[in-house]
Amino acid sequence: MPKISKIWAHEVLDSRATPTVEAVCVLDTGQFAISSVPSGASTGAHEALELRDEDPARYKGKGVLRAVNNVNNTIAPAIVGMDPTQQSAVDDKLIALDGTENKTKLGANAILSVSEAVAKAGALAMKQNLYSWIQALAKVLGLVTAYHVPTPLFNMINGGLHGAGNLDFQEFWVVPASSKSYVQSLQAGVEIYMTLGENLKRRGAIHSIGDEGGYAPNLFTNADALELFVESIKQTPYALGRDVFLGLDVAADSFYKNNEYAIRDKSAPMDELAFIEYYKELNNSYHLALLEDPLAQDAWEGWKKIRAALGDQVIIVGDDLLATNPKRVEKAITEMACNAVLIKPNQIGTVTETLKVIKMGHDAKWKIIVSHRSGETNDTFIADFAVGIGADYVKFGAPARGERVAKYNRLSDIDAQLTASQK
Ligand code: PEP
Ligand code: MG
Repeated sequence: MPKISKIWAHEVLDSRATPTVEAVCVLDTGQFAISSVPSGASTGAHEALELRDEDPARYKGKGVLRAVNNVNNTIAPAIVGMDPTQQSAVDDKLIALDGTENKTKLGANAILSVSEAVAKAGALAMKQNLYSWIQALAKVLGLVTAYHVPTPLFNMINGGLHGAGNLDFQEFWVVPASSKSYVQSLQAGVEIYMTLGENLKRRGAIHSIGDEGGYAPNLFTNADALELFVESIKQTPYALGRDVFLGLDVAADSFYKNNEYAIRDKSAPMDELAFIEYYKELNNSYHLALLEDPLAQDAWEGWKKIRAALGDQVIIVGDDLLATNPKRVEKAITEMACNAVLIKPNQIGTVTETLKVIKMGHDAKWKIIVSHRSGETNDTFIADFAVGIGADYVKFGAPARGERVAKYNRLSDIDAQLTASQK
């Protein structure tokens, strides 16, 4: 039986220059695995706690030395000696050591860095690819899936809290048809991204690049961004509605105030019913394939209405609504509030809990989308994770910026391996 001989963590930086936790798991065989955790900007209110030092003397309070110390002084002594292939036993121990509902004692950042490093070490000990090992871990929990290299949701225009431009919606996606291979999807996504960039430059509309590598333009309305997609796609060999589709992460909480939604497309703020009508109009014009967080994270009644109105045409995705949290996913399944779950491991804090949430979504016949955070490192754990659990889609940002491209490139590696193994 392989054993964990050492666990330690330190502070590294994410793609926004914000400190984050990186953990190392060393085995008695001498093998070791490293994992670092991401961080959100538009974080949902129901996520597990990301523990920060709040010490204004370091990194404007954003240091993570308390989380690092929790790994080195509390988690490591409890985990050393355990078998890295017993992921759920390790995760149970992490959960028990913390002992709180939202991981407020040790921090979900501390806990997840160890949980993921142990999963990687487990794969090494089993001499398996990480995606194979993730599939095996899922199977133990009753989640039986085939490998699937998921379709990317390419976030080509960044607004809201992620973009320095003036758009309210956070993410504007181009989504290749699910029937396309990963190689075809990547090529289509990149060619459309290039064409869109040329068009924005010609109009003098590019303000900058956003946190997830998409363009962050100044435009008149949010719908104009979709119009630019239509125009750009026409200039490529791909047909909208056949080869590629459009989608949005509205992240509606960022402009929800006093029970109303204020966006630049309308002169006055809209109440919930008016906003749902607006989505119907958008869908009539642009045939949206997916719509994430269209309403505020606790607007359950509204979510039920939008799913009833659009759910047979559009995949309604819960991110802030669900926060990868089993209780919220259960409620959403029972109340038919959406029909897809966005999976972000750091919203819940361990690999095993994340797998259990995926099983719930899978059993409800929901679509499963594995997602990065807007603050990322070059860690590619979620690429293997997505293939191992057979995700329908991945959300890794634009095909630009190293921390996003690392994940797309890892999917290319896995895709090539899987293709070769079928020959
Ligand atoms: C999202 O909202 O889906 C997202 C990836 O953003 P963040 O990481 O800022 O929550
Ligand atoms: Mg989101």
